[in-house]
Amino acid sequence: MSRTAEETLRVALWPGDPGYDEARRVWNGMIDRRPAVIVPCSDATDVAAAVRYATAEGLAVTVRGGGHNVAGLALADDALLIDLGPMRHVDVDPAGRTAVAGGGALLADLDGATLPHGLACPVGVVSETGLGGLALGGGYGWLARKWGLTCDHLIAAEVVLADGSIVRASAENQPELFWGLRGGGGNFGVVTRFTLRLRPVDDVWIRSAVYPIEQAAAAVRAYRDAMPSQPDDLQLVGAFKRAPAADWIPEHLHGEPVLAFTTVWLGAEGGPEAAAGLFADCPPAGSIDRIIPFADLQSMGDGSEPAGRRYYTTSGYLADLPSDAVDVLVRYAVDGLTTYSTIDLGYFRGAVARVDDDTTAFPSRDASFICSASAAWDDPAGDDHGRSWAGGLIRDLGPWRSEGSYVNYTQRSGRSAADVYGAHRYARLAALKAQVDPTNVFRGNHNISPSPTRA
Ligand SMILES: Cc1cc2nc3c(=O)[nH]c(=O)nc-3n(C[C@H](O)[C@H](O)[C@H](O)COP(=O)(O)OP(=O)(O)OC[C@H]3O[C@@H](n4cnc5c(N)ncnc54)[C@H](O)[C@@H]3O)c2cc1C
Repeated sequence: MSRTAEETLRVALWPGDPGYDEARRVWNGMIDRRPAVIVPCSDATDVAAAVRYATAEGLAVTVRGGGHNVAGLALADDALLIDLGPMRHVDVDPAGRTAVAGGGALLADLDGATLPHGLACPVGVVSETGLGGLALGGGYGWLARKWGLTCDHLIAAEVVLADGSIVRASAENQPELFWGLRGGGGNFGVVTRFTLRLRPVDDVWIRSAVYPIEQAAAAVRAYRDAMPSQPDDLQLVGAFKRAPAADWIPEHLHGEPVLAFTTVWLGAEGGPEAAAGLFADCPPAGSIDRIIPFADLQSMGDGSEPAGRRYYTTSGYLADLPSDAVDVLVRYAVDGLTTYSTIDLGYFRGAVARVDDDTTAFPSRDASFICSASAAWDDPAGDDHGRSWAGGLIRDLGPWRSEGSYVNYTQRSGRSAADVYGAHRYARLAALKAQVDPTNVFRGNHNISPSPTRA
């Protein structure tokens, strides 16, 4: 039965209400925005009522999935916030290898439902992240090289459009909307249900290794040279950070800037053999190997970037990593890495690059590396340093950047959606936007304007 806006708004939170401040808190402690009203929604009918109310009142609409967006895009001042927190339920069809997840599900909710069946959807590496924002922007993690992005696993979506209508988008129904949902961010409507394809998973072999900063350039070059010939079952990511006081890391490195590599082999057997030749001429200062359940891999990053800290994260794709680019990375690691900051370096290709470029709105599938600089600090006095350090690194990597960037690792300032998607893709996204959201009700994101000339 359809609910009225009045019934839906009965549970809404207005400024000054108990719970309002808690409900407008997101992961990034830098974000302090005050929505006009926050509407918790339990299903598509609630969402439709909230959207209709907002348009009648002339309010912009923002959507909160998991609230983990680095730029705090779930929130905007004076907008109506649709809070999908009550919609975290996940149903699994183990035989059909599919799951249906509510629009507010976290990655932990999805894994919690699918992993008992030995199945997973490829998602991100921190289980506290929201599926909504991650899937709509792309979504990559440990399974990306083998199986592709989260958005590549979307079979269908239930979507509430700007006029309050509820539609189902899939390859057969509303194919252009289905294209745009896979990488175009939350620009086209509110996804209240994600139907996802699942993959079989097993225990994994994992190696953590650490290099002193003096050896980092050689190790990055070895990584660059090795990755193009590795099998898709092997994933290897690097991170410049300050070394934790782990017992497998030499004590003199504790607290110092280091380069850490995590190698993951998808399977309990064969990992050491697969990784044997990787850094043969460049052994690490310390390392540890183990075999862990896939569930532990999925939550391994939890707590590493806790909610409430101040963050500035930005990223760029790199076509290649010549020595000059490696030197830039090392320079920023030596100079300005705070206690919690990281520079992450990931390698894609594999299944990500095998999807035809036109199949989804996700840009830059042919990029080799993604570099993200994540500045993190506690004291607001560090805001300027955090912004200029992370922004400066990505700017200084400019000569080696390839077109586009990852919408989910992009701060708002200085970047428009046209930069993220490139001119050709942006024009197609803008045409879709003009069709499904001509008055730009959903504009609190990396916005695709319905009028490309206003981009
Ligand atoms: C600690 C941490 C780890 C991360 N790790 C990874 C990773 O491994 N891989 C990766 O690819 N990304 C990763 N990310 C980036 C992540 O994909 C983005 O931050 C993403 O936006 C988070 O989605 P969310 O639903 O939590 O965010 P929110 O802040 O709730 O929303 C983000 C955007 O998506 C929109 N949105 C959310 N849900 C919906 C919906 N159901 N319908 C319509 N619009 C919606 C919002 O309106 C907003 O514009 C990480 C981020 C953090 C903070």
